[in-house]
Amino acid sequence: MKKGYMKAAVFKDIEHIVIEERPIPECPSEGVLVKVNACGICGGDIRNYYNGLKDGIKDQIMGHEIAGEVVEVDPGVRRFKAGDRVALAPDVSCGECYYCKRGQVNLCENHRMLGTHFPGGFAGYIAVPKIVMERGFIEHIPEGMSYDHAAFGEPSSGVLACQEYNQVSYGDTVIVIGDGPVGCLHMEVAKARGARKVIMLARGRMKQAQKFGFEYIFSNKDPKEATNKVKELVGPGADIVICAVPNTAAQQQALELVRKRGRIIIYGGVPKSNPMTTLDSNKIHYDEIMILGAFSYPCTGLYHALQAIHNKDIHAEMYVNGKVSLDNIVNGMEMVTSGQAIKVVVDPWM
Ligand SMILES: [Zn+2]
Ligand SMILES: [Zn+2]
Repeated sequence: MKKGYMKAAVFKDIEHIVIEERPIPECPSEGVLVKVNACGICGGDIRNYYNGLKDGIKDQIMGHEIAGEVVEVDPGVRRFKAGDRVALAPDVSCGECYYCKRGQVNLCENHRMLGTHFPGGFAGYIAVPKIVMERGFIEHIPEGMSYDHAAFGEPSSGVLACQEYNQVSYGDTVIVIGDGPVGCLHMEVAKARGARKVIMLARGRMKQAQKFGFEYIFSNKDPKEATNKVKELVGPGADIVICAVPNTAAQQQALELVRKRGRIIIYGGVPKSNPMTTLDSNKIHYDEIMILGAFSYPCTGLYHALQAIHNKDIHAEMYVNGKVSLDNIVNGMEMVTSGQAIKVVVDPWM
């Protein structure tokens, strides 16, 4: 590597990532320069790799589950100093729109992201500009936490916020449809919030999920059979059913599993080509079912997630079980897709 240059995984176009040598960015005015030590591969990164970045953006460094060390600080920055260990999350809100003015930054009309609108963390360094310092997410990593585990703060943030917003509470029966990292996170967070019975409906990644020691995991290979088995366990139905898989069949199944006046939470998108769903509206009406969406997190999201990992409510070490170099980033994505690993972290210095 030439002096002053770094390696970066650059999204050129659909299914086309190129490893380039790029100049190390300068420390932005009123910003910081962070040496990236870990950047998680998100389900969203994989979706973007196959479908393209938002707004048709190309020639961009992807990656948004970032942890690293501050190496340079603009004199205008007081919160951080060189040597600080920090975690970053992608969302950057505008501060001006209807939602931002009400503190609902996750719903910002002009929402931008690291790894899409700003260069992301699949690189040796990331410049954190003023707008991200002010309207994005950068937090100190708690003492003793590894960079790999800190990078898991971002995916944890959304799950914590979803259950806070939808008030998963003491004594609840919660069903999670989905066995990926997000499904496992929902299981852990529901338990931490005091849910009495937490049940997972799993498919291809059941073996991985079983390692968490959850009490109730059912195979969802045959959804009809699974629905019947779970119904026996939950009596009148679950208080809350969380759909954590990218398909609409889960939403229909959720409606069969939820109790009267129960809540169905749609967490995670389905393919953009066909987002439409069919639900029995009579059941929704007569049983007073609430169907809710949840996306991203408030400004406290990343801080709370790092605390939850630190307190072992979320066991980051159970998720992060793969590591690749920048050169092997596409391999890393395949490791996630195939179920070989739950969460793969890229180490740009490997
Ligand atoms: Zn992510
Ligand atoms: Zn806004």
